Amino acid sequence: MISAVPPDIDHWLRPFALDEHLHAQAAEVLASLPADVRSDLMSDPAFTMCDYEPGPDRVFHVPVRLSRRGAGRAVVLKRTLCRRPIEFVRWVIAHELAHAHLRNGGRWAGDDPERAADALAAGWGFPKP
Ligand SMILES: [Zn+2]
Repeated sequence: MISAVPPDIDHWLRPFALDEHLHAQAAEVLASLPADVRSDLMSDPAFTMCDYEPGPDRVFHVPVRLSRRGAGRAVVLKRTLCRRPIEFVRWVIAHELAHAHLRNGGRWAGDDPERAADALAAGWGFPKP
């Protein structure tokens, strides 16, 4: 697959040290975001992404960067996503980035955060498969 991901996105994602497949999909999703959403996330020094291998005995600590406004935004991806179809992986990443962009809220007062995240993801070109 020929990727058109801008180098700044790739460079920004690197420190999160995602699984290589998830990194590539996250980069594709980020490259497709509206510029204002992308810059909202990429200009936030308290934003972080990570992945983890789910297992029965694992305790997982989400790395959270603190900022003056409190705990930062974090997107956490299960590595089992790697075994799912690409459309599903991209939808999950877009949905999680939407939650981060909306700061886990809705689009308006009383809006359901899950519906809001799906609607944003769909609007960015990643409808729920
Ligand atoms: Zn959700």
